[in-house]
Amino acid sequence: MMDEQRIREQIVEIATRCYDRGLLVAGDGNISVRVGENRVIATPSGVSKGWMTPEMMVVVDIEGKPLEPSALGVSSEWPMHRVIYQARPDINAVVHAHPPHATGFAVAGLSLSKAILSEVVLTLGCVPLAAYGTPSTRELTDAIEPYLEFHDALLMANHGAVAFADTLEKAFNKLETLEHTCRISFIARSLGNENTIPDRAVEKLFEIRERNGAMRPEARTGQVCSYTPGANGDADGERVTLTRAELVELLMESAKLFQR
Ligand code: 13P
Ligand code: ZN
Repeated sequence: MMDEQRIREQIVEIATRCYDRGLLVAGDGNISVRVGENRVIATPSGVSKGWMTPEMMVVVDIEGKPLEPSALGVSSEWPMHRVIYQARPDINAVVHAHPPHATGFAVAGLSLSKAILSEVVLTLGCVPLAAYGTPSTRELTDAIEPYLEFHDALLMANHGAVAFADTLEKAFNKLETLEHTCRISFIARSLGNENTIPDRAVEKLFEIRERNGAMRPEARTGQVCSYTPGANGDADGERVTLTRAELVELLMESAKLFQR
């Protein structure tokens, strides 16, 4: 049996940390923790997530129906949390925020699908960009659903980011890593060059991640990455997989070079 009072306190602590680090402002973001098979503690809708108290948390079932009386309604993004819990039985915590660099990528139509930092390949993997969907609607859940099986964080076009894990602390760490990586990528791009880790080296990192139990072998090829180590026996990286946004970005970069 989980200590639900402690979970409420942890959600407040993590939300405050998100606010203090500028990952969300005003009424942005939401957090939830699955505490039982059909029981989830979640942040309320429409309040500043940097100024909450444990009593403000809302207890709901997987459909978002309140299980305890509460003056506040559950997050308007409950359908997003629900679809993640339903797709991934291994996930017990979801953190959604609007971190500025990650959201900047999502606004620019960019995913985080290149292997640029070894630690990120080890801890987070690739982060795809889901198409835009109106917040709190089926449009948004339909847009993220195809990516849930093999990723632990997503960018959502013209909106923000979401990360999930078996514990709340790990979900927050993934979101923080995502924001930090987008910031580093932005700096590298501003400096004019973003070198990537060669496919053979990425493959070694994937092997370490699998040995640590942090990644299922299917996720290697299931992830939406601009590299496909080991896929089709092509360790030299002659075959690459690009998202539509990356293909457009590549073509635009080539066109710019051609015009010079
Ligand atoms: P809630 O306050 O309803 O959780 O909504 C915040 C948000 O980020 C919507 O996408
Ligand atoms: Zn949001």
